[in-house]
Amino acid sequence: MLSMKKEIFLCAINNVLSGSCDQDCQFCTQSVRYRANIERYNYKSIDKIVQEALIAKSYGALGYCLVTAGVGLDDKKTEFIAKVARAIKSEIEGLNLIACNGLASVEQLRVLKESGVDSYNHNLESAKAYDEKICTTHSWQERYQACLNVKEVGLKLCSGGIFGMGESEEDRVSLIEAIASLEPEAVPLNFYHPNLALPIKERNISMVEGLKVIHTMREKLGVEKLLMIAGGRELMFKEYTKEMFEAGANAIVIGNYLTTEGEIPSTDREMIHALGYGVASSCEAKD
Ligand code: SF4
Repeated sequence: MLSMKKEIFLCAINNVLSGSCDQDCQFCTQSVRYRANIERYNYKSIDKIVQEALIAKSYGALGYCLVTAGVGLDDKKTEFIAKVARAIKSEIEGLNLIACNGLASVEQLRVLKESGVDSYNHNLESAKAYDEKICTTHSWQERYQACLNVKEVGLKLCSGGIFGMGESEEDRVSLIEAIASLEPEAVPLNFYHPNLALPIKERNISMVEGLKVIHTMREKLGVEKLLMIAGGRELMFKEYTKEMFEAGANAIVIGNYLTTEGEIPSTDREMIHALGYGVASSCEAKD
């Protein structure tokens, strides 16, 4: 008999190329313009990435996301991610492999799909009207088009945004509606993690407003999609994890984020069980 216990999906991130981006997104420590104090490195070795994927799987991650800094895919990046995808798929079973490499053309995405990538993550990041105030080097429309490209090649789309970057209430509604209009399979919601090196110094969203964002996003998405709380979870909802899940979240990122540390994965698993939920053991369980 199927258990009626709500199941929480776990996803892990690997930043395989860090901190070398020339764009000016005001929320991002990986832009070289703001000289944030983060670890910056060139491509990790494929062996190391496979080992790290195995560790994430052992903690129960069902999704594994390969992230690169930079505005988008080029030939070198596409080839590298394709190689990593083939290596992971040949050595590890049961991981939903997600690539997150910025703007991407239909041709580039096709190469990734043929190499075993299952999903592509590209976040709209902010509302269309607010985006031009916080990023001038590429456009919101380009981001949206990249998401459409993902759907065109038949990869699963994972697309969300960041809340608390100085946007208005109206901007939040607009971002939620834009995300929903893409009908993504999974939506990661991030809550801005302030860093004094960045032009955006503060987070302008409260915990209660964050819960409202989750609730509204869930209403727009429908029940069967993944609604994931990603960056900023510990800052926003540490004492309110139950409320976060009750508002509609059913997935979290475990381990570290791109440039900030996350909770220890075993602690998150214990938290999920203590709240009376299960940890999902298959991506199909949500259907
Ligand atoms: S394009 Fe991506 S990596 Fe570059 S600054 Fe913007 S968010 Fe950061």
